[in-house]
Amino acid sequence: MESREVVIIGGGPSGFTAALYLARATLKPLVLAGEKKGGQLMFTTEVENYPGFPEGVMGPDLMVRMEEQAKKFGAEIRQVNATKVEFINGVKKIWVGDELIETKAVVISTGASSRMLGLGEEKLLGRGVSTCAVCDAAFFKDKKTVVLGGGDAAMEDALALSKFASEVTMIHRRDEFRASKIMQDKVLSNPKIKVIWNTEIVEVKGEGVLEGIKIKSTKSGEEIDMQIEGLFLAIGHLPETSLFKDQVELDEKGYLTTTMTAMMQSNKWRVSDKDIWRDGYPTMTSRAGVFGCGDVVDYRYKQAVTAAGMGCQAALDVEKYLTGNVSSW
Ligand code: NAP
Repeated sequence: MESREVVIIGGGPSGFTAALYLARATLKPLVLAGEKKGGQLMFTTEVENYPGFPEGVMGPDLMVRMEEQAKKFGAEIRQVNATKVEFINGVKKIWVGDELIETKAVVISTGASSRMLGLGEEKLLGRGVSTCAVCDAAFFKDKKTVVLGGGDAAMEDALALSKFASEVTMIHRRDEFRASKIMQDKVLSNPKIKVIWNTEIVEVKGEGVLEGIKIKSTKSGEEIDMQIEGLFLAIGHLPETSLFKDQVELDEKGYLTTTMTAMMQSNKWRVSDKDIWRDGYPTMTSRAGVFGCGDVVDYRYKQAVTAAGMGCQAALDVEKYLTGNVSSW
């Protein structure tokens, strides 16, 4: 059995930033970064909106730099998955297979993954199926593409694709989008983007590479085959919280609830105890000593820079929780 002051579960921008701050605070954090460490930025190409990189930076390179920076100050990073946790009593227990780690504090930064349709399209990811047009649009120059979804992410994907693809068809299951008006206006006024309302995808075709889809009207039941070369799924994300569901409170979408998000969601933000900022732990979950940051908490923003910012917040809260002060402020 191993004993630690603080263990960080998840190695994306939020986890590595928390590790950097906690290492500089001499708390020797252990990061269980996951077998696929690096998070969603490992699947992106150029990142142009991370501050400090005016020339842009490749997503995987940015993650290597974040990891190196945390290690430089003493963070230990292991490329393994936590397999079980028990946060019931004061000491928190984390297992990696048979190996038990006990710790006084935990930071959960396990991120989120894209929701899929469950029609076998996962095996065509990177072979015509994508979950990020902002990352992959340039590969679909002069190709026929479909974007599924009606939220802001779907609008953003359709607009990104319209700069490259020969055809962009949006398919949405209802007769109105849920996206913000400004994004809808951009999409609906773009001559390259067509919208098919009240329609679902019922089949994704292709062996080895995407060949097409079958769509079905939710009104008439009519089915139509479409030959396409690109399918972009923008139907939301699923937070990686299955390991924690009996241990800490989750919201109705499965995201980790922290003091801060619980206050925002209950609309008590303006009337609640102001001292939460001064005396409380805004990033603490429903369990004392367990903190959350990054996309596993964040339904709304989901940016590398917001995840990194939240990692910093969680680390400062952990430091205050463990030592009673925050030396790095
Ligand atoms: P979202 O707002 O939850 O939208 C998901 C969309 O997918 C909805 O239109 C939903 O349909 C549809 N959908 C869900 N499951 C489906 C299924 N199984 N089959 C077909 N369609 C399905 O998610 P999001 O677009 O990822 O946005 C999440 C948050 O991030 C939002 O707060 C958004 O404003 C924010 N965001 C903002 C920007 C921006 O401002 N530039 C960009 C991206 C995201 P229904 O509408 O029928 O439920």
